[in-house]
Amino acid sequence: MKKIIGIDLGGTSVKMAIISHQGHIIEKWSMPTMTQNEGHKIVPSIIESIQQKIKERHEVVDDYIGIGMGSPGTILEDGSVKGAYNLNWVNPHPVKALFEKEIKLPFIIINDANSAALGELWQGAGKGCSDLVMLTLGTGVGGGIICQNRLIEGASGSAGEIGHITVDFTDKFPCSCGKYGCLEAIASAKGLNNLGRIIAKDYQGQSSLYQEFQASQSVEAEDLITAAKANDDFALKIFGSFSKYLGLACSYLANILNPQRIVIGGGISKAGEYLKEAIDKNFQEYVFQPIKDQTQISLAELGNDAGILGAAYLILVKESGKL
Ligand SMILES: [Zn+2]
Repeated sequence: MKKIIGIDLGGTSVKMAIISHQGHIIEKWSMPTMTQNEGHKIVPSIIESIQQKIKERHEVVDDYIGIGMGSPGTILEDGSVKGAYNLNWVNPHPVKALFEKEIKLPFIIINDANSAALGELWQGAGKGCSDLVMLTLGTGVGGGIICQNRLIEGASGSAGEIGHITVDFTDKFPCSCGKYGCLEAIASAKGLNNLGRIIAKDYQGQSSLYQEFQASQSVEAEDLITAAKANDDFALKIFGSFSKYLGLACSYLANILNPQRIVIGGGISKAGEYLKEAIDKNFQEYVFQPIKDQTQISLAELGNDAGILGAAYLILVKESGKL
């Protein structure tokens, strides 16, 4: 049976894997992302690494169905990537064209939040679901929407920008997109710092996390969760707001899409059940009540493998004509 190559391109590393058509990772490897010189070496270095790997395995390109890739930024119709600022690509970068010139295999590229959603649908928390929304909580907030087994990309490829849904109207939370009050400005690593800053303003209580915050002006997700679990007052206030806004955003998603699962992934989701229960409690309160029991909040299961698996899944369904 032919295999698939999955690539997850990130700002610091590129993860690559050889995957069976059943979703089993046969071999995976990674390398640093070469973002210097406006990122011109990124794609050639990935191509070289893949050619090398195929050679090492004593295989040929014909042993593969195709290559799927998840990338930051907006994916244009011709397979170019726009707005991937963490890769230093200033202008739209012709990723698909570069690949197809060097490796004679079908190539498909999608946004990394979408590939993570597809990965969880295929092999993770969404296995067996037809409708799934994934929220990736990391430096930012990514989103991927799958309806009736189809990835929703929208008219111009920007569907699923859940991180930029406005959830707060106080103009206190500046977002990287230029707006205020986006989910990303609250429920991401950067968002935690915003919450810390705002809650610290009139904070009067006793808290060791508050003292740490005064010194560093930043809140690390891991420290926050540890302190909240130990009933630290300042931590509970931040965590309370964080999970409230996430629960609210999930209720919007459920009301519009009624997915079987809303999957929470990304670095911050390592907080596990504690985070899931807090989001779920708020979700239950805000969601349209008839949907309450039909949409389940779940934790992602695949961690860093979601992206490579999702990218591989997309090429698999596309090449087998199921999409
Ligand atoms: Zn925004």
